[in-house]
Amino acid sequence: MSNLFYTSTRGKSAKQSSAGAILSGIASDGGLYVPDPLPLDSLDPLEIVNKSYQEIALVVMAEYFTDFSDADLKACIDLAYLNTFDTPHIAPLVKRDDVYYLELFHGPTLAFKDVALTILPHLMKQAARMSGTDREIVILTATSGDTGKAALEGFAGVEGTKIIVFFPEHGVTQIQKRQMVTQHGENAYVIGIEGNFDDAQAGVKAIFTDPALSAKLYQSNYMFSSANSINIGRLVPQIVYYFFAYTQLLRSGEIKRDEPIDYVVPTGNFGNILAAYYAKQLGLPVNRLICASNENRVLFDFFTSGTYDKNRDFVMTMSPSMDILVSGNLERLLYHASDDDSASVRQMMDRLNLTGRFDISPIMREALSDFYAGFATEEETSQSIKQVYESSGYLIDPHTAVGHAVYSGYREKTQNPTKAVIVSTASPFKFTASVMKALGRDYKADDFELIDILSRETGLSVPTPLVKLATEPVRHRKICRKEEMKKQVLEILGIS
Ligand SMILES: *Cc1c(COP(=O)(O)O)cnc(C)c1O
Repeated sequence: MSNLFYTSTRGKSAKQSSAGAILSGIASDGGLYVPDPLPLDSLDPLEIVNKSYQEIALVVMAEYFTDFSDADLKACIDLAYLNTFDTPHIAPLVKRDDVYYLELFHGPTLAFKDVALTILPHLMKQAARMSGTDREIVILTATSGDTGKAALEGFAGVEGTKIIVFFPEHGVTQIQKRQMVTQHGENAYVIGIEGNFDDAQAGVKAIFTDPALSAKLYQSNYMFSSANSINIGRLVPQIVYYFFAYTQLLRSGEIKRDEPIDYVVPTGNFGNILAAYYAKQLGLPVNRLICASNENRVLFDFFTSGTYDKNRDFVMTMSPSMDILVSGNLERLLYHASDDDSASVRQMMDRLNLTGRFDISPIMREALSDFYAGFATEEETSQSIKQVYESSGYLIDPHTAVGHAVYSGYREKTQNPTKAVIVSTASPFKFTASVMKALGRDYKADDFELIDILSRETGLSVPTPLVKLATEPVRHRKICRKEEMKKQVLEILGIS
């Protein structure tokens, strides 16, 4: 395997090894690190068809993290996936009504982000060892609800790290909030902000790219990194389950060798679906990457018109982890689709900063033809939850339901018979209020009481991480304005 490097999408930062890119999180020019060269067609699913999830993880990660030894990667994989998920398969695939659901919610926080955030702390510690740094790593994270808790779980108690999470005080569900504000761990800090996810993400990005602040930090023997999907260490572990799902379909005879399938991905910050795109580049037979948005349909508009425009009202939906108007990882796709043209990526991102919008060229649009985009209204999302449950007894969460609704529209419109996997991103128990309402059972009860009611009505058992959540003591109460994020961080680190 040849050595690869990580280069900034904006082309103004030095290339890094994967360890360097994982430690930095974001490039100093504000760009995102992309593999250079992007691994192409080097993994045939037939070669890994009989491997376990962990074994596939090793093969896939070795393609991207070429400076890590296999022994080091294996150690990280074992630490991440041994006994942290409620199934040894990590990402089980289930079939209902002729579609497949890839269940990514069997980890400690019941959403797909666990798959990457259980391993990221170990990759980061290893990266720190490899680069010989003894600095304390400060993880700064903006969350639309699920990343925060998954990152807290991953980093809490990890020696040599601190984790600070900013979440939109009024933009997450009761359950998501409670999961975060009850977090244990001396090194964990959770702060609500008066703003939405985009504000939180912009604030974190501004802190990361503030040179004066970096210098201060450096003097105090700290370094920043990110647990958001702008970190390549988040993205690569997500490529694994796209291969794993395909091998399961091959093994069970549901598909023939080389048969292309569709992946339907409920999308917000564009990390998960970008991992699917990387999987396709690496050699996975994928027909369409179906990008499913909720009423914040900025990506749908982008793919169908060639114009990205965030100037619109932010809608709070029942799929809050997808309530995003600036999809950070799209920048990586723009880089690949423009044939690695960092100058034009820079231009597009400058325009986005300045005017809130940018256009892409017809040639670039052509390069995005692997993608199909759709969006689901709140009504359609509810309908999907109800319909899937009534026809097959299978309960899906609102994010997955957005995927289902978009997929139904796609099937109707294209009559395309390709087999499809819908990526199931969260447990329905995380979003009880919306799920119960969709089922037409409108109780006057809070989200926590609804956990037990939902369990009783469906016969499904309450996932372990939620059993004691309602009675856990609140440990984090801080709220700040979005302008105060930097001040909060300095206070926590004891830097003036
Ligand atoms: C984060 C999240 C998404 C969106 O994933 P992106 O990688 O941000 O596109 C979808 N569903 C759930 C449940 C999530 O937590």
